[in-house]
Amino acid sequence: MPDTPQSFASQSSRATASVPLSIPFSTSPGFAAIGEKFFTRLPPTPLPAPYLVSVAPAAAALLGWDAGIGNEQGFVETFVGNQVPEWADPIATVYSGHQFGVWAGQLGDGRAIRLAQAETGTGPWEIQVKGAGLTPYSRMADGRAVLRSSIREYLCSEAMAALGVPTTRALSIVGSDAPVRRETIETSAVVTRLSPTFIRFGHFEHFAAHDDVAALRQLADFVIDNFMPACREDAQPYQALLREVSLRTADLIAHWQAVGFCHGVMNTDNMSILGLTIDYGPFGFLDAFDANHICNHSDTQGRYAYSQQPQVAFWNLHCLAQALLPLWLPPEESDKEGAREAAVEAARAALDPFRDRYAAAFFRHYRAKLGLRPPAGGDDKADEPLLTALFQLLHAQRVDYTLFWRKLCGISSTDASRDAPVRDLFLDRAAFDTWVADYRARLRAEQSHDAARELEMLAVNPKYVLRNHLAETAIRRAREKDFSEVDRLLAVLSRPFDEQPEAEHYAALPPDWASGLEVSCSS
Ligand code: AMP
Ligand code: MG
Repeated sequence: MPDTPQSFASQSSRATASVPLSIPFSTSPGFAAIGEKFFTRLPPTPLPAPYLVSVAPAAAALLGWDAGIGNEQGFVETFVGNQVPEWADPIATVYSGHQFGVWAGQLGDGRAIRLAQAETGTGPWEIQVKGAGLTPYSRMADGRAVLRSSIREYLCSEAMAALGVPTTRALSIVGSDAPVRRETIETSAVVTRLSPTFIRFGHFEHFAAHDDVAALRQLADFVIDNFMPACREDAQPYQALLREVSLRTADLIAHWQAVGFCHGVMNTDNMSILGLTIDYGPFGFLDAFDANHICNHSDTQGRYAYSQQPQVAFWNLHCLAQALLPLWLPPEESDKEGAREAAVEAARAALDPFRDRYAAAFFRHYRAKLGLRPPAGGDDKADEPLLTALFQLLHAQRVDYTLFWRKLCGISSTDASRDAPVRDLFLDRAAFDTWVADYRARLRAEQSHDAARELEMLAVNPKYVLRNHLAETAIRRAREKDFSEVDRLLAVLSRPFDEQPEAEHYAALPPDWASGLEVSCSS
């Protein structure tokens, strides 16, 4: 049995800040106000000789800081967890979840500690240090995160934000040479993450599994009151909550597919109730397009393959629905004739909009990527043949996904002799010619203006994404204590749609050595 929240709470002691860091925000209790059964109060565990690896200017700005904040006294000590400022109220929350389709029981913030909730001009932000030591929810693990995975999470959080994909954010990485055992001995790091809330589907599953309907209701009310107030107006607020989460999740996954992002571990404990990308582990962006690409080396069955992400999200939403069910089917009524059927039907009705919303978002993204206007009559299905043929072609030819879209921006609707930059990505040029003839016909049918369309397409087809080998290069240099590549990559990825002539090589095909890279759950 894991320690109970209470037993840890009594051990927690509050260190006071030796070098206070002045903050440009106020704080509020946030999640800490909802009651002790949801979390444990405890301070982070210090790490020896911490050093700053990187600060993300855009994330710092969300809190009201400028990019130089990392050099301020107290920053490193605070965001490695070595001092607990008086404005902090550190907590680790409890959740459960389904991992790889199987109920895993209690999980929780095993190495993440929420320091505080900042109230800022950009909204509320929970500030959380990940890798900050053991909690009651660490199970058999060590409470730490390695520099390697921390760099990946940090860079990708900020890259996704710049791509416009809903995501948790990353403020900083602080490192320490304290050794951490994974497949090899690595060094430690703490990523400071920001999110309006870190509540996951798994938080609801946890209290449902304990038949604690009161806690379930408290959680649901917290999410509704703080983030989805419109649900309160609904005759059935909790069903409205489920519908809202379904819609947000549909939007999120369609966006992932469009940018070629594979999450890698879509367990229900890694699904944000706000529809944000959360818990960056063995994620990957598609290089050569493979519809069934599996980015997580530990995912031997391909449960979380690129093509599976929409279905898996829907499956995860069913787990959430199951957890929420007692909110509209009180246990004392569940035996009444027809009550259960009616409640399940209500859940289904709340989940159902996922399909249409996903399809609509999918077509919207891909039409934008193709520079097409909605078909006459607004029938998305009319775009399906062109897209299906394209995916089959990209898959058969293993064309680089990001390069394809970026180069397609420059296509002419009238002049095939200018196809070379994109055509040369295909081994089977004739197959490309067949597809592009249809595409060109469509462009001409809607009297598409080449120059205007190119600009619009360049604004939705990124030139720069966090390919595995780019992260790997930054990690290798960081291990040598050269953090400049982390900063450089962060800067490039924060403007993914802009031409950055000095950064051309970051947009190139992966080098040969990248094919040997394996990313697993080890972090
Ligand atoms: P993840 O696969 O990273 O989503 O983690 C699944 C669960 O394991 C979560 O509850 C994490 O907090 C926990 N966990 C993962 N790695 C560690 C670690 N090194 N120490 C403590 N808990 C961990
Ligand atoms: Mg997780």
